Amino acid sequence: MAGIVVVFDFDKTIIDCDSDNWVVDELGFTDLFNQLLPTMPWNSLMDRMMKEIHSEGKTIEDIVEVLKRIPIHPQVVPAIKAAHALGCELRIVSDANLFFIETILNHLGLRDYFSEINTNPSYVDEEGKLRIFPFHDFTKSSHGCSLCPPNMCKGVIMERIQATVTEEGKKKFIYLGDGAGDYCPSLKLKEGDFVMPRKNFPVWDLICKNPLVIKAEIHEWSDGEELGQVLLGLINKISIEENATFISTDCKLQTISVHETLPQALPVQQ
Ligand SMILES: [Mg+2]
Ligand SMILES: [Zn+2]
Repeated sequence: MAGIVVVFDFDKTIIDCDSDNWVVDELGFTDLFNQLLPTMPWNSLMDRMMKEIHSEGKTIEDIVEVLKRIPIHPQVVPAIKAAHALGCELRIVSDANLFFIETILNHLGLRDYFSEINTNPSYVDEEGKLRIFPFHDFTKSSHGCSLCPPNMCKGVIMERIQATVTEEGKKKFIYLGDGAGDYCPSLKLKEGDFVMPRKNFPVWDLICKNPLVIKAEIHEWSDGEELGQVLLGLINKISIEENATFISTDCKLQTISVHETLPQALPVQQ
């Protein structure tokens, strides 16, 4: 069992677009969204947009159908399954919402690969309408982080995950993301961890401005194919180092070949 926790952002990391924009655009509400965006926080706007979408006669089934068509790079699903098969624990930290994420993951057959989804709560009410709420209720108190939007500080979530995982004895984190909201959790990573920022996206720009404040090793990626290659490469590298340490500290195991005892990364299907 590799002591690795892989933490994924969702939008533009697992899927290849922003799920909020995708639903709004596909259902024909882009203009209203753009008109209202300057007037309220993004998360509050998404709840408002669901109200507008339903009031125009669109149903929850219409939203589900749109979510099932979401763009995803073909290598991402096999990469997630391979990371899981290699013994990594997989978690999601996302500023989308639970209904969108679970609908998409269930459709892709991926839901059970993730042990935890940290995101904005959402539910279908008694009238069959989707409601979306903030992860952090900023009407009651602030999360206190000036880097992050009022409804969610991914850094606070990352610190909680680090605290629980350390109790379980797991050691290394790999964090993957693309957005400005992924910068705060990247700053929380420790030496020995890895951050995988998507190249030429906001988190990559922020990290490149001052890479010295990042304690984790930085490994960029551009698309789903590179995401798989870099992620599985890191998992294998960490596993080799862990096994080498283990073997060198136990005389009885010194004759066992490192390569024979290692779980190898599954090849990503072409
Ligand atoms: Mg994202
Ligand atoms: Zn933050």
